[in-house]
Parts: sequence; structure tokens; C-alpha cells
Amino acid sequence: MPRHRIFSGIQPTGEPHLGNYLGAIRQWVEQQEAPDRADALYAIVDYHALTIEIEPEQLAAWTLDMTASLLACGLDPQKVTLFRQSDVPEHAELGWIFSCVAALGDLQRMTQFKDKAEQNKDNINVGLFTYPVLQAADILLYKATQVPVGEDQVQHLELSREVARRFNRRFGETFPEPQPLLSKVARLRGLDGSAKMSKSKGNTVALGEAPETIRAKLKVAVTDPARLRRNDPGHPEVCNIFTLHGCFTGPRDPERLAAIERDCRSAALGCVDCKKELADRVVEQLTPIREAQAAWRARPDDLRDLLEVGRKKAAAIAEATMEEVRARIGVRGLAKRR
Ligand code: ATP
Ligand code: MG
Repeated sequence: MPRHRIFSGIQPTGEPHLGNYLGAIRQWVEQQEAPDRADALYAIVDYHALTIEIEPEQLAAWTLDMTASLLACGLDPQKVTLFRQSDVPEHAELGWIFSCVAALGDLQRMTQFKDKAEQNKDNINVGLFTYPVLQAADILLYKATQVPVGEDQVQHLELSREVARRFNRRFGETFPEPQPLLSKVARLRGLDGSAKMSKSKGNTVALGEAPETIRAKLKVAVTDPARLRRNDPGHPEVCNIFTLHGCFTGPRDPERLAAIERDCRSAALGCVDCKKELADRVVEQLTPIREAQAAWRARPDDLRDLLEVGRKKAAAIAEATMEEVRARIGVRGLAKRR
């Protein structure tokens, strides 16, 4: 087994946004370029997306579209395994087995369930509650040791570790305990300046958004709530727009970032101009992604072929793990059925 194996997933519940990019996808791309890169698998987790009301055609279309977006962000299927979760049915099989291992009390503490149940009052399904159990299966099916995710997934990963420990105690040492890999911007707030930026909350800037839309959205984005008048001094440390300047201005022009911080504090720079400048940087840096996304969207057959290549690579690992698991828990494995 390799020293480290990476697994992460993204739901096909809409267009990926700046939070997904800065919190997760960017790390996936950086990781694949590292000279000593670990073996990495990235799944478009369509079974997870069933926890919300979603039309079958929409789910299939968003899955393909997410593939286009991830490739547009620079994920290279030659270097990593990119696949669709439902193409490897062992995810669901291990999910059931883990639901007989996980403790109800642990699941009842999950804050994402509480948030999502609040958001979807008319569809609080059992899958929404057991979501972290399927997620533990996603990760442990590949015996992954590292999981690059945003901060919202840290609690779920604690549960994955607990499931691994409980399984190992009951059935013998089988799974490693996966650790989160957090990026610098592990929890980007939405344009409302408070809630986490989320596909399901409608407070996003999507990666493929048109330049005019990006400008219009940033124009009305919430900044420092204490800065009511133009001449009030600003507090960059609490401003979501400054966080974004840190990602889009800072890496290319650290001096400009320092000047923005200074001029915000002294009120020499107003929020309107600050946001306009940010919009220019975001538009500049998202343009190549938007263009690549459009090019991939025009090649749906190639997207399907790439997912099939990914399926084969993922399935080989998943099948080996499941044979081991089936033998450990006392159900009949494929080898015995033949
Ligand atoms: P949904 O609202 O459907 O749950 P989402 O925007 O939360 O969508 P997911 O597919 O659930 O996106 O998550 C994909 C990855 O993006 C995860 O690693 C998650 O931690 C990360 N992520 C999501 N939102 C943010 C955010 N605002 N800041 C940083 N990382 C994020
Ligand atoms: Mg989410």
C-alpha cells in the first residue's frame, strides 16, 4: 500500500463556487503537481446528492457538468482517479455495513445534519442523517489517509475515524484513520458575509459565472458590517471581501494587498472601489476556467469516457477492500460465489 492515499468528493448539486475551489479543488490540483504526490481519488458523489430533491435528468446532467468543471480547474485524469460514486456500487455496500458500526449518538451531534434539516424542512430523509456514514465508506473503501476538504467536513471526518476504529476493534485491523487536509481558506463565507458559501444556499460566485454577473454580485456583497458610512475606518480581518483579496490579489501582488489593508483601515479606500477592484481580479482569474469549462461541456462523450477510465481504476481498489471486508464480517465474498 502507498504511504498516503488521498480521497475527496464533491456533490453534483449545482455549479462549483469559490468556496469549493478555495477550500477543496485548488488543493486537489496542487497536490497532483507535487513531485512526491500521493495516489489520489476524487469522486463526484451522486448518491450523496440524492439527499435533496433532485430530478433524475438533473442529477445526471450535473454529474457530467461537475466533471467538466473539475477538469477545467486543472484536475488531470492521467495523474489522479476521477470518477462517479454510483459507478462503484461498493460505496453503498460498505455504507450499510458502516451503519451497523457507527453510533447513533455520534451521528446526532453532526451540525451539518442540523443545518440541512433546517434548510429542507419538508424533506428530512434518513439519508440526510446518515450522510456521514456513506462518506466514511467513500473514504475508507480506498483506505485513504488524507482528505482535502473544507472546514465544514472536519466533524464528518472525526466520525470516519471513529467508524474505522469501531470496525477495527470489532472485526480486526482493516482501515487507517483518515486525517483532514485543510487549506488556508477552509471556510469561505457567502456573498451575504455570514453563512458558509454553499451551492444550496444561493450565496455563491460560481466558477463559470459570466463577468457581468460576477461584477453585479460582488457589487452588492456584504463587507465589514461596522463600516456604515464611507469615511468610517474598516476592519479587514472581519471582511469577506478582504479574505477574497487575500486569494485573488495577494498571491500576485502582496504589496497591493498590504496597501488595501492599510487604506481600508484609514478609510482612504471605500468598499465600492475595493469591491470593483476585487471583481477585476476575480474575472481575470476565472476567465480561463470558464473558457475551459465551456470547451469540456461541448465534449460530453469524452467526459463519459474519462469517467469510465476513472471507474475502472476506482473499482479495482474498491473490490479488493470489499473482499477483505466481506471475509472479516462473515458474509460470502465474490471469490466464494464463483
Ligand atoms: P451543498 O450546499 O450541496 O452541500 P457545498 O457548496 O457545500 O454544496 P459540497 O459538494 O458539499 O459543496 O462540498 C465539496 C467540497 O467543498 C468539500 O470539501 C467542502 O468542505 C468544500 N466547501 C464547500 N463549501 C465551502 C466553503 N464555503 N469554504 C471552503 N470549502 C468549502
Ligand atoms: Mg456541502
